[in-house]
Amino acid sequence: MIVGIDLGTTNSLIAVWEDGAARLIPNSLGEVLTPSCVSVDEDGSILVGRAARERLQTHPQHSAANFKRLMGSDKTLFLGKRAFRPEELSALVLRSLKEDAEAALGRPVEEAVITVPAYFSDAQRKATRAAGQLAGLKVERLLNEPTAAALAYGIHLREGESKFLVFDLGGGTFDVSVLDLFDGVMEVRASAGDNHLGGEDFVTVLVERFFETSKAPAALRHDAAFMQRLVAQAELAKRALSDSPRAEIIAGDGRQDYRMELDEAALEKACALLLARLRSPVERALRDASLPLAELDNIVLAGGATRMPIVRRMAARMFGRFPSCEINPDEVVALGAAVQAGLKMRDAALDEVVMTDVAPYSLGVSTTVRIGGDHFSHGHFDPIIERNTVVPVSRVKRYFPIRDDQQIIELVVYQGEARMASDNIKLGQLEVRLPSGVEDRGVDVRFTYDVNGLLQVEATVVSTKEVHSLVIEGNPGLLSEQEIAQRFVALSELKIHPRDRIENRTLLARAERLYQHLRGMPREQLGREITGFETALESQDQRVIVPAAKSFRDVVDYFDHQSFLLPDA
Ligand code: AMP
Repeated sequence: MIVGIDLGTTNSLIAVWEDGAARLIPNSLGEVLTPSCVSVDEDGSILVGRAARERLQTHPQHSAANFKRLMGSDKTLFLGKRAFRPEELSALVLRSLKEDAEAALGRPVEEAVITVPAYFSDAQRKATRAAGQLAGLKVERLLNEPTAAALAYGIHLREGESKFLVFDLGGGTFDVSVLDLFDGVMEVRASAGDNHLGGEDFVTVLVERFFETSKAPAALRHDAAFMQRLVAQAELAKRALSDSPRAEIIAGDGRQDYRMELDEAALEKACALLLARLRSPVERALRDASLPLAELDNIVLAGGATRMPIVRRMAARMFGRFPSCEINPDEVVALGAAVQAGLKMRDAALDEVVMTDVAPYSLGVSTTVRIGGDHFSHGHFDPIIERNTVVPVSRVKRYFPIRDDQQIIELVVYQGEARMASDNIKLGQLEVRLPSGVEDRGVDVRFTYDVNGLLQVEATVVSTKEVHSLVIEGNPGLLSEQEIAQRFVALSELKIHPRDRIENRTLLARAERLYQHLRGMPREQLGREITGFETALESQDQRVIVPAAKSFRDVVDYFDHQSFLLPDA
């Protein structure tokens, strides 16, 4: 069984292709969105999902979120005393999704299609694949998120619609793809994006506005617990503004509450720069696809942040019409991943469907250009595979040394579009030793870019046929196969919070978060309720726990609805 997984910055989802359709699988709380958060509990066990998200506020030193943004780097995050790499945290999320699917399907799940932002670099893709391996999953395919969204839409599309643009604004990335659909062939014509633009940036803007307008002292920026609460409140306010005209952010430091009110117009004004940044990837994708705006049949929204009315309005202004959002934008990528899983399993219902994708960025090497006589200009980027070339692709180019006595050619591989190599992203480097005393001193450099977006570089010395391969795996940001195997064992030994107890654990985490928000009598009252529920849990007797959980949930719901009405001290 191959599953489709959307491993998101904020939330992750898992889906399967079954009986000719893609279906999302709910987690143990019955929800299809599992927050991409991990926390270490007091007893050292690992919590993933909603309970971990609640604990971000109450136990920020033991909890982590947004680690997708660090994938491909060698950053370590500390949860309590234990250090985790970003791919290990992602692996814990993947493992939790895998267990949910196994519980729902009643059979082991060992293979997956995992989606990545189209703009993810080679290192970020490899880190995602490693995360899959660390979770005990064979990653059948890394699929670009907008391509997944297009696949989900493609199989639902009405007759006559053939050219469409996917506008995918997730938590941390923005991706645009232009697609052409014809006789069951879905062709990605062009992709463009911004790897550092997403829903979280709108929250960051709100946090900045909060410090500017609420009189909260700047020193509070260094108070980790306060900042976690503020970010969570800003996130809530941003979401509230998707449904109602006004929202308020309230954050306290224990002595005083600070507040900021805002409406949609204020949000739009504060985020004007972010909104403006949505334009250029759209223009670039259309230009690369050689498609005028007027020829687009449909604009499809994907990614949770496209729920924001200010983003939808910006899209409508850009395209001169309202985009389509028939499939829930949070779910469309995971559904598309399940379609790809169906294609991999050669499901008969998908017999007619063929999907082609493109390389979203150019890949090449740094070269030296002769600018007359013995004058050279170094560090120019020379693309070998141009962006938006259909994948898989293999291209070769021949390079020569600049001096006759030169013994080594240094090949430095980059991805990007800038004229100067140093303005692009460096992927790795390779030294090729040249034989002396031979006529032909050229080196053939072959770039092979596969459907997963992974690059292989091979240099062949023309005269000797000697082949050198670039081991991009050797980057400091990436784990070797051996390290993956070791860390897999270490991760497997971690104690995971039992699935059947996660619901009560999540409820408790939510109550603890609310406790921190409240003051005075309500706080005391909730504190007593928490102790009472903990005592019930300690009894380990379901006849005690089940009714206690029911009444405790009612109490927590009550306080949750009251929590905005902060009592006076
Ligand atoms: P994704 O990575 O696709 O899960 O997108 C997550 C992003 O969508 C986060 O930045 C969320 O804050 C944002 N998001 C989800 N729901 C809403 C909503 N109702 N209004 C505004 N933003 C939302």
